[in-house]
Amino acid sequence: MLKKTLAILHARPTLKSDRLLLIAAFYLGFCLNFSLWRYTATYLDIDSLHTLAFAVSFPVLLMATILLLINLFAWPYLVKPILLALIMISSVANFMMFNYGVLLDVSMIQNVFETDTREAFALVSFTGIVWVFFTGVVPALLLTRLNIQYRPALREAGIRVASILLCGVLAWGILSVFYKDYASFGRAHTEIKHLISPINYIFSTARYLKRQSIASRDFKILDPHPKLAASHETSDETPDAAPRVLVLVIGETARASSFALNGYARPTNPQLSQEEVINFSNVASCGTATAISLPCIFSAKSRTEFSKDAEYKVQNLLDLLKLANYDILWRENDAGCKSVCDRVPTEKITVNLPSRFCDGHNCIDEALLENLDEHLATLTRNTVIVLHAIGSHGPAYYERYPEAFRQFTPDCRIADLTRCSQAEIINSYDNTILYTDFFLAEAVRMLKRFPNLKSSLLYVSDHGESLGENGRYLHGMPYAIAPDNQKKVPMIFWLSEKQAKDDRLDANCVRQHAAENAYSHDNLFHSLLGLLRVDAKPYDDRLDIFGSCRKPDTTL
Ligand SMILES: [Zn+2]
Repeated sequence: MLKKTLAILHARPTLKSDRLLLIAAFYLGFCLNFSLWRYTATYLDIDSLHTLAFAVSFPVLLMATILLLINLFAWPYLVKPILLALIMISSVANFMMFNYGVLLDVSMIQNVFETDTREAFALVSFTGIVWVFFTGVVPALLLTRLNIQYRPALREAGIRVASILLCGVLAWGILSVFYKDYASFGRAHTEIKHLISPINYIFSTARYLKRQSIASRDFKILDPHPKLAASHETSDETPDAAPRVLVLVIGETARASSFALNGYARPTNPQLSQEEVINFSNVASCGTATAISLPCIFSAKSRTEFSKDAEYKVQNLLDLLKLANYDILWRENDAGCKSVCDRVPTEKITVNLPSRFCDGHNCIDEALLENLDEHLATLTRNTVIVLHAIGSHGPAYYERYPEAFRQFTPDCRIADLTRCSQAEIINSYDNTILYTDFFLAEAVRMLKRFPNLKSSLLYVSDHGESLGENGRYLHGMPYAIAPDNQKKVPMIFWLSEKQAKDDRLDANCVRQHAAENAYSHDNLFHSLLGLLRVDAKPYDDRLDIFGSCRKPDTTL
């Protein structure tokens, strides 16, 4: 009897490699994701066959993705260590997320790396030990005892490739059918991505390690002494009667194709078309999300060279302008400046401001203009005012415009886009553009009230938006495959007579270029240095939109 028991214990069960990977994907993706399924069950309203099918598709999509990934990496000799590590970490992660409500984002991974042993032991509990023993240690022990059966090399490789293709097609199929649901649910519940084990801790750890390596770098100076072109210099002692002022409006989620100025059939630009603004009809964004486009706009790097993780350790456009004696003010009404404004004065528009533009939950963009004319009235130094607008930020488009701008109806009045028709979504979105049109025209009219200033205004959106074309919604798709609606952005320029005259800048020439040429966010860094007459080492005159429209400075 004893002999028999020992024999069973010593027996090494055999399993074919593809079956092991399938079981592993099921265990990691489905079984060790308690908190993800609890979260989904809490927030997903299953009230139709479609939402039920969407709910079922989620674990299938997750398992297909995990199976695809482990098929890529788990080769003989690597299979066991990789799966052991995934099972043990996922088991602990599952316990922490389910019982303590932990989200495994980058800052949580940072805590894990920087915690001391005392702190770590404080988290150990009897329940935790039992939980990890049964969901981590036991499966791990079983795996170590397992005899994995591989086929001859070529056949094994063939099965892996077929498995990868199958998983890819399955995932693509699910995303194609349920794109609107995934985009809408994911955008409304952004924290869910930090619950998807093991993808959450793998990506957050990679991100944390990358950040650490960049954080240890020195801040990179592109030019320690940028300065105003000689004839435009002013000194601190003698205030300038006609300082140069740029109002730079960074828009949010506005797409070029919804601007009437770019040929859109609806009258979305009734106000700007009354002002003498210059419309750039063909401008490409740097990214399809704020986190990339915003720092990229202010960076000397081009889209193809730009890395959002590295850029915050490099001098940006605002740093150079500040060194060239410009006063900078960043006004924020969006989701933060992504480190771009870290070294310049910043005013955050807070939702509970006693302002008629804020309701305690949101502030519409006119809040950015409040008291700005008083500021302009007292200016004696060259100044750049950046207004970071909330623009057309979705999916709650209806929160971006006041009642008076609810002109395209019926509009979608909820953030869950799956519950609105495409026509309602487009109506809400177009109302945001209509309001942006008014907001920008108001900013231009405000600058016109100060004809003594050499003033200009440049508006550009960070990226576009999909509104249901080919089943796509929102933004953030990989640049290479993103539709033009996410990449083509509106750009508007207004130039005061005073600045045009003093800088010998030919507005008609700019207007002609704006109508004929294709530009991108890559042009902005150089064009704004040129427009503000700042000589800085990284300036490249080939990328300066205004360069060829400026007559040579005869006063030099
Ligand atoms: Zn954005």
